[in-house]
Amino acid sequence: MACFLYLTWTVTVMAQGRFRPGDIVPEPYLKVYGYEKFFTISKINGEVRALMLQNSYKDEAAVVPMESLRYLRVLHCDEDGNAVVGELVCAASIARDLEEIMKALFEAGYPIEKMRLVDYYGGDDEASMRDNNTSCFNQRLSTSGAKVSRHSYGLAIDINPLYNPYYKAKAFGKIVRPAGSDLYLNRKAHFPYKIQKGDLCYRLFKEHGFRWGGEWLSGKDYQHFEKH
Ligand SMILES: [Zn+2]
Repeated sequence: MACFLYLTWTVTVMAQGRFRPGDIVPEPYLKVYGYEKFFTISKINGEVRALMLQNSYKDEAAVVPMESLRYLRVLHCDEDGNAVVGELVCAASIARDLEEIMKALFEAGYPIEKMRLVDYYGGDDEASMRDNNTSCFNQRLSTSGAKVSRHSYGLAIDINPLYNPYYKAKAFGKIVRPAGSDLYLNRKAHFPYKIQKGDLCYRLFKEHGFRWGGEWLSGKDYQHFEKH
């Protein structure tokens, strides 16, 4: 048994060791190692911990201890159908949910353009959204600025955010995030990466007990899924 576990662990390390987040994994590697080996959950340490402490995680303002967060490595499909290494930081309580959802999306060829930690954008949510980057943990206020975001707890994820904007009507006009995504507020139009009620992405998150920001009554947040 111990020998089998060691072998499984070694193959996982070998499979992942060759590739960094953002890399395309060529088909032959997927065949040799098995795509499941590219899906892992681990505690936050080393390089990722250091990166987060400089960007998305500030000790003095933290609402959760870093020990309660997890680092996920997954595969996602880009629009050309390539298998790309993605990464997420989330609450330990939803790590399995996200792993299962990402695996199901990958198996179905559901396109997600990018999935890098928000730390590569200096913790700047707007920059990450504008780059259509899918991300989860980020210590920040909600987009409306009214409260601490569920992202600060690692309990919310934004999928393909450029094409699935945040929208809220205000007395002085409307707020749309990221800037320049107004075009994608027309949810009847056809465009890539659009999340809509009943599609695979929506169904998977719902099945795992998440709420969708596209169903909020006050404003909409089409990119956003959260769990309580
Ligand atoms: Zn969000």
